[in-house]
Amino acid sequence: MALIVIDCCFLYPLVLHCVVQVINLTALHWNCRFERPDFPLKFSGASPLTGAVPYAQCYGGHQFGTWAGQLGDGRAITLGEILNSKSERWELQLKGAGKTPYSRFADGLAVLRSSIREFLCSEAMHFLGIPTTRALCLVNTGKLVTRDMFYDGNPKEEPGAIVCRVAQSFLRFGSFQIHASKGEEDLGIVSTLADYAIRHHFPHIENISKSETLSFSTGDNGQSVVDLTSNKYAAWIVEIAERTASLVARWQGVGFTHGVLNTDNMSILGLTIDYGPFGFLDAFDPSYTPNTTDLPGRRYCFANQPDICSWNITQFASTLMAAHLISDKEASYAVERYGTKFMDEYQAIITQKLGLQKYNKQLVNKLLNNLAVDKVDYTNFFRSLSNIKADPGIPEGELLVPLKAVLLDIGKERKEAWASWVQSYIQELVASGISDEERKASMDLVNPKYVLRNYLCQSAIDAAEIGDFGEVRRLLKVMERPYDEQPGMEKYTRLPPAWAYRPGVCMLSCSS
Ligand code: AMP
Ligand code: MG
Repeated sequence: MALIVIDCCFLYPLVLHCVVQVINLTALHWNCRFERPDFPLKFSGASPLTGAVPYAQCYGGHQFGTWAGQLGDGRAITLGEILNSKSERWELQLKGAGKTPYSRFADGLAVLRSSIREFLCSEAMHFLGIPTTRALCLVNTGKLVTRDMFYDGNPKEEPGAIVCRVAQSFLRFGSFQIHASKGEEDLGIVSTLADYAIRHHFPHIENISKSETLSFSTGDNGQSVVDLTSNKYAAWIVEIAERTASLVARWQGVGFTHGVLNTDNMSILGLTIDYGPFGFLDAFDPSYTPNTTDLPGRRYCFANQPDICSWNITQFASTLMAAHLISDKEASYAVERYGTKFMDEYQAIITQKLGLQKYNKQLVNKLLNNLAVDKVDYTNFFRSLSNIKADPGIPEGELLVPLKAVLLDIGKERKEAWASWVQSYIQELVASGISDEERKASMDLVNPKYVLRNYLCQSAIDAAEIGDFGEVRRLLKVMERPYDEQPGMEKYTRLPPAWAYRPGVCMLSCSS
C-alpha cells in the first residue's frame, strides 16, 4: 500500500494513505501517484468529480433501542461509484465535508481526532481480516470546528478533517426502515431498494436455481418449513443475518467493541461501519463499553454485541415484513439462522484462538471467568498462550511461566485457579495431537499481536493535532501486519498507561 503525502497551500491537505491496489483508482484516469494538485480539492468536496452525482442518503434508525425517526447522512456525502478493472463497484463517500439535507441542527463537519480514529480503525480492522468499510484518504481542512466533546457545556475549537471512505455499499438497516416507518404509501420504496440491493450486491440470490433444495425446518417444534428458493427476499435477509452473525463473531474474537450498534450503524453487507466511540478490550471486561452515552445501561457493551445484533436483525426483518416482502415465519427463520451462525462461528474462532480442534465449553467458560476476575489483557493473553507446551509433565510450579508477562499482580489463590486451568488446557492440547510448533504457527494467525488500542490512537492524535502525522503513519504501518512479529515495535503491545483512563481516551461520546 502506498503512503502518500501531498502538500497544497490551499487546504493544507495531508493524504495519509491510499488503497489504490484495492479499488484501482486509475479507472478514473487519475495519476496514481496523486501528483495532481486538484486531488485534495476533489477529496474535500471542494471541486466536483466529473460525471458524478453526489448525494446524501436518507435513513432512520433505532437508537439505544428506541425508534429515532429520520436521521440520514448528516455529514456523509457520496461522491459517486466507480467500477474497477475487476468490475467491482466501489462507492466513495466523504465524511465531514459539510451540511447535507439531513444535517438537522448540526454542522456536517468532523474533527481531526474522530477522522483519524475512523481512518486508522477501518484500516486496522481490514488487516485483522474483519469485514469493514475502508479509508482512502484523510484531508485536513485547515478550518476549526467547535465541539463540546463531553456535552458538558465546555465547547472547544478543534481542527477539522474529512475522510474519504470506501465500501461496496453504505446501505444500512435504517435505509429500509425509514421508508417502512412512513406507512403504506412508501412501502414500495422498500421493495425497490431491496431489489436494487439484491441486483447489485447479492446477484447470486437473484440467480438462485429453483432446482436447488433450500428448504429448512424451523420453529420450536421444527414443523414449519421455509423454502429460500421461493422468495428472494427471504433468502436475502437470511444472508444478511448470517453475514452479521459472522461479523459479530469476529469482533468478539479480537475484542472489538463497536460502541453504537444502532440500526442506522448496521451495514446490509455485514461490514463494520461508522467508527465512533469504538474500543478494543485491554483488560478483559465483558461489560466494557467505550461509549460514555451508553454508560447507564451498557446496552452496547462487549458481551451484549451478539444479542444486540440479533435484536437489530429482528427490527430489519420487521421492516421487510411490514413491506410484505417476507412472512413472519421467514422473519423468525432469519433470526434463528443468525443465532446458529453466530454460535458456530464464535465457537470455531475461540477454538482456533486456543489452538484446539474441538470446542470445549467448560474450558472456555472457565478461561473467560479467569480473564475477567484478574482483568487480564485480552490481546496479549491469547498471543502468549501459544507459548504453552503440550507437556503433561511440567511441574506445577512452572505451569504459569509462559503466561508470566500477562498474569500480573495475582495472589496465591488466583495462581492456583490459573494453574488448574492451564492443566486442563494442556490435557486438551495433548489430546489434539498437534505439535507445539504447528499449533503456535496457527494460533499466531488468529491471535493478533497488535490491535489499535485507544491510547495508541490518542497518542497519534495528540501529535497530529500539532501538525506531526509521523505517529499516525507508524501506527498505520504496524496495524497493517497485526498477526506478525514486528521486531522493534513491541511498545505497541503495551498496556494502557495511567493517562489513558481519562475520559476522551478509553471512553468517548457518540458523534464528534
Ligand atoms: P452517529 O452517531 O455518528 O452514527 O450519527 C448519528 C446521526 O447523526 C447520523 O444521522 C449522522 O449522520 C448524524 N451526525 C453526526 N454528526 C453530525 C454532524 N456533525 N453534522 C450533521 N449530522 C451529524
Ligand atoms: Mg452513524
